[in-house]
Amino acid sequence: MSPPLSHALRPLFKVSPWLARAIANDNLRRLLWLGILIVPFVLAQMLAFWLNLQGTRPEFSAWRMEIIRTHALAGLSLVSLGLLARAAMRGKLAAPLWYCELLSNAGGAILLAFGLTLSCYHQQVTSSITPFLMGSVAAALIVLLRPVCALALYGIALVAFEVAMDSAQADPQLRLSNQVGGLTACGIGLMLSLILWFSQLRNLRQRRRLQRQREELEAKNRQLEYLAGHDPLTGLFNRRHFDQVVTQELARCTRQPAPLSLLMIDLDHFKFINDRYGHPLGDEVIRHAANQLRKHTRSSDSVARVGGEEFLLLLPDTDEQQARSIAEKLRTLLESTPLPMKDGLLYLTASFGIASLGRGVTSTYERLYSTADQAMYRAKASGRNRVEVLDAAPCGTLE
Ligand code: GH3
Ligand code: MG
Ligand code: MG
Repeated sequence: MSPPLSHALRPLFKVSPWLARAIANDNLRRLLWLGILIVPFVLAQMLAFWLNLQGTRPEFSAWRMEIIRTHALAGLSLVSLGLLARAAMRGKLAAPLWYCELLSNAGGAILLAFGLTLSCYHQQVTSSITPFLMGSVAAALIVLLRPVCALALYGIALVAFEVAMDSAQADPQLRLSNQVGGLTACGIGLMLSLILWFSQLRNLRQRRRLQRQREELEAKNRQLEYLAGHDPLTGLFNRRHFDQVVTQELARCTRQPAPLSLLMIDLDHFKFINDRYGHPLGDEVIRHAANQLRKHTRSSDSVARVGGEEFLLLLPDTDEQQARSIAEKLRTLLESTPLPMKDGLLYLTASFGIASLGRGVTSTYERLYSTADQAMYRAKASGRNRVEVLDAAPCGTLE
């Protein structure tokens, strides 16, 4: 269904605030460039008329002086407008919309007045109204005018032109021809202004839609990246990401020899918790243990959940002894931090297996992992809630 007419006509009078701001900023940039580019333009014109001043008949000298003065005045006005636009762009606070619109309309008005004045002076020597046509087109091309403002500006310009032409052109036929020409010039200018206004609105809306889509896509990518590397239940790294971290760390240890330890942690008798209290509480216990592990390790350590209630902890720059004391600290912490439940506290324990590499000792991830696994099963077999350490048998020693 097509939108109602009032909706379609709305952009003639009013646009949404973000669009108005985008157009205002666009216009300020255009006015700034106009203020810069008008300088060589008017200087060239003034010079051309000035160089031809000598040796002409007195009435033509007066005409040329008028033309030079008009160029100077228009140049000065547009440069001042450019400076005001620059100040508005540079202000810490965005310039009010009404002020920006005032500058834009002033730009359009100056261009129209410039063309009109030149055309009237030209009537002393020619019947051409080309400058007025140029001014009309330039006003439409250079500044984006809100349709109501464009209508008002071109309407005023047309009336002023018709009145001025009455006294500027003495020949009735030429006067009539120019007056009709003025109407055409204003019509072309107004039409161009409307076309450019609506096409710019469409561009800005499209740009904003694309910007929004790009932002949504970036947010989704960030989310996917997070999901690809994290465990949804605990927010810890998952196995995939953890494997990458360990591989990088092993490579770093080869370049810059440093000790490294890998901890494998498995909660004790977890099946019993699931069976007795249900899986939702089991999940709660896993989250609780994960929080404790994350909270009480360094940010340079990496913690991952790699199975139901199994965790891996990578400790860079940590030798066997340091790893053992960290594991003991964590074991005691888990043991002494029960999970509050509706009807009491749920105590839990975990078994820790450690595989360590001394400084300058190289090994593979597979070897490190299986050593930590063996150590953890040794802890289980030795009665649980304890820490066991094994040396990750070296593949070689760095010189
Ligand atoms: P052990 O002391 O020997 O480790 O005994 P255990 O009962 O902890 O044995 P095991 O490690 O084999 O048990 C792991 C259990 O964890 C089995 C599975 O039902 C449960 N599990 C696996 N993933 C999840 C999960 O995401 N949520 C919950 N609540 N339970 C899980
Ligand atoms: Mg297990
Ligand atoms: Mg277990």
